[in-house]
Amino acid sequence: MWTLPPTAMMQAMRDAGVRRAYLVTNPDSGKLEASLPALEPLVETLKEHPDYFAHQGCFFEIGEESGHLLSAAVHQTTRGQAAGGVRFWRYETVGEFIRDGLRLGRGMGQKNALAGLWWGGGKGVIARQDGVDHKDPEVRAKIYRDYGRFMTGLRGCYITAEDVGTTPPDMANIFVATRHTTCIPEAVGGSGNPSKLTACGVVVGMESALDHLGLGSLEGKTIAMQGLGNVSRFMVAELLERKVAKIIGADIEQGVIDELLAAHPGAPLEFRVVDLDDMSILAEDVDVVAPNATGATLNPKTIPTIKAKVACGAANNQLELSERDGRALRDAGVLYVPDFLTNRMGIVNCANEQYGAFDGDPAIQAHLEREPEHGIFARAQAVFARAEKSGLSTAEEAEALAEELMAQPHPLWPERSQQIINFLVSSQWDRA
Ligand code: NAD
Repeated sequence: MWTLPPTAMMQAMRDAGVRRAYLVTNPDSGKLEASLPALEPLVETLKEHPDYFAHQGCFFEIGEESGHLLSAAVHQTTRGQAAGGVRFWRYETVGEFIRDGLRLGRGMGQKNALAGLWWGGGKGVIARQDGVDHKDPEVRAKIYRDYGRFMTGLRGCYITAEDVGTTPPDMANIFVATRHTTCIPEAVGGSGNPSKLTACGVVVGMESALDHLGLGSLEGKTIAMQGLGNVSRFMVAELLERKVAKIIGADIEQGVIDELLAAHPGAPLEFRVVDLDDMSILAEDVDVVAPNATGATLNPKTIPTIKAKVACGAANNQLELSERDGRALRDAGVLYVPDFLTNRMGIVNCANEQYGAFDGDPAIQAHLEREPEHGIFARAQAVFARAEKSGLSTAEEAEALAEELMAQPHPLWPERSQQIINFLVSSQWDRA
């Protein structure tokens, strides 16, 4: 099953006469259990799999209107309900589909915990189907209404949000069918686009790293930026406000470059168009390098070329392999600000949406200030100090600190999601 296409999993569910299935860790025995005999081979693979990381459960549903395979990975929820965005992506195999949810769910748990949010980790994944026009608004509406219904069925053990491949109109369609979502459009009471806040958070991460190295502020520093999209657009403005000496940038699209240059006439910007596999921007002789495009760009090929003293960017999962590449950066004398610590503002912006939203919300701004212990500046300093003491990499220390924080129980609702999962299993959620 692991190596078969996602359609094979749907067929196995249909053959068993169900639209829903799960893999759940039994809280008493600690063993992973499948709702269907056809999914037993997945249990065998996942038991030994490094991405499993003691998730509490993985849930699957075939969308009623769209026929798409929907999933939700629920990592550890001691700190609160599992929360993280839903990704809409094409997967060759069931293994890739499940693995992405598990990997990203755990990452969200770490991000939420380091940010001091009372959420656990979770991630949604929807498998794109071949031969379907996914740009058609009608098709998308069906898929995302299905996802909303899926959330309602899961009764809040996982709270969804926006992620790669999902757009604000898609979030509005999810909200048609469930209350268990954040990142809903402003038009229906949501918090809106978080890219500016994400940019501000990453800039605070840079400041924390420079401060730790005794290099002062960003003023007069040079920055290399990979990717000049939404986050970078705001980051350029923030950095120019802080009087950096120069920003060198690269993108695969000429359009975004033209727009940014037009927005900042006369500013010290040097931008170029590159091919997708051109990583030369990371090797620029600058103070700070910011991977702001895609994941896994910090790897054995690129790390030896980095001349910057600080690596701090917005992209998720910048390290191709966390332990190996985190240590390689340490050995190369590059202070790496872990992405899940510094790029948290997207989830911070929408995390408390149900309590209302207003500009300048101090609960959100606190993450960008120097003093609060859970803010980006202080958390990064704590991680740098731990890494110096232990000799481990900053990535490893950020993960260790996140694990400690993830073990803290929610002050009002400890184990709520586990209770919900227990209910889903005992009430035969999968048979509905
Ligand atoms: P975006 O899609 O608007 O921008 C990414 C840019 O990178 C695009 O302009 C794209 O053309 C460019 N790009 C892609 N591959 C490239 C390459 N190999 N070399 C150079 N440029 C390349 O995305 P965004 O919203 O700016 O987010 C940037 C990164 O930060 C993404 O990885 C995203 O997942 C992550 N992130 C974003 C937020 C947010 O609030 N937007 C929050 C957390 C994490």
